[in-house]
Amino acid sequence: MKRTASCLWARRGVRRAYSSTTTSPVAGTSAAAEAWDGRFRLHKPRGQHLLTNPRVLDAIARRASISPGDAVLEVGPGTGNLTARLLASHAARVAAVEIDPRMVEAVTARAAALGLADKLTVIAGDAVEVEFPEFDVCVANIPYGISSPLIAKLLFGRYRFRTATLLLQKEFARRLVAAPGDGEYNRLAANVRLVADVRLLMDVSKRDFVPMPRVDSSLVEIRPRGAAPGVDVREWLAFTRVCFGQKNKTLGAIFKQKRMLVELFSRSQRGERCDGGGVGGLGALDDDDSVGGEDDCGKDDDGSNDRAVGFSEDEVAAFKKRVAGALECADLASRRPSKLSNDELMRLLRLFNERGVRFQ
Ligand code: SAH
Repeated sequence: MKRTASCLWARRGVRRAYSSTTTSPVAGTSAAAEAWDGRFRLHKPRGQHLLTNPRVLDAIARRASISPGDAVLEVGPGTGNLTARLLASHAARVAAVEIDPRMVEAVTARAAALGLADKLTVIAGDAVEVEFPEFDVCVANIPYGISSPLIAKLLFGRYRFRTATLLLQKEFARRLVAAPGDGEYNRLAANVRLVADVRLLMDVSKRDFVPMPRVDSSLVEIRPRGAAPGVDVREWLAFTRVCFGQKNKTLGAIFKQKRMLVELFSRSQRGERCDGGGVGGLGALDDDDSVGGEDDCGKDDDGSNDRAVGFSEDEVAAFKKRVAGALECADLASRRPSKLSNDELMRLLRLFNERGVRFQ
């Protein structure tokens, strides 16, 4: 309900910043404007931790790869501490998506006080739901709760852009930039690596925010690759959900579980394509659930609790052979997903698909 309400509001709520030059409580020297004046209560569940260290704000704007004439997208501008820098940059225009009407008003007034209102469009709504305007670069200190769906939307939606420079929770950033074999390597990193290059730019202390969050942050640059990934993206995302749901098991063990095989068999028989459209059908990139799951351990071999509803035992056994054949051909049965490169995983997916094993 909440989402629907904010979505409707977003459709109505695309507003232009005023071009008034009257001073506001956020006007003044840029350093003074950064400090939080407590004019309303900040809402922590909405991720309202304002970045108030001017040096860090300057560094983010500097490292955001903004070229003259760029269209910039900012998510969660808050009172406009970062927005003020983006507006003062070489960018031609800035679009900022903000969910809280109080913040919409604050950032709008901030731009007006700086005399830069003409460059700013504030879109009132939920950044996960609203349609973004075209943009060249995305720069944002985002609410950490939407990190995964937002990155999914940016990378697997229909947007074409050069870079996204995002301030993220430090642990999340470490997982995002992890490489196969690293302890933190997971589904998120594998999915993002499929379509983009990612690098860590700098760490930011929790002391640089008001109110101070419990966690430190890191600035990350995400650079989408121009070329198409050479794999059906939806099929890949469904495949990595299965593999990384139990990333520390070997692939042989993952694909031996009866319930998993039955579920995959049913998906492969349906041969349906999920055409939910947009990122809604893609969801978050780092959920750890999967078909089957840890609960299935121990039931693999006798299979007494797993009835292949609608399929004969012979059909499922034949399907199991096809799955095992693909693993054998790839020589990956004894390997763990978290240690494999995307090329190895992609090869395995192709071998599965060639044998009629489908994941979505
Ligand atoms: N970028 C600002 C504010 C960061 S706080 C700064 O660095 O100071 C995060 C901001 O994101 C808040 O203003 C919050 O209201 C907004 N926000 C939270 N969830 C959002 C969502 N789903 N879509 C858009 N904005 C959101």
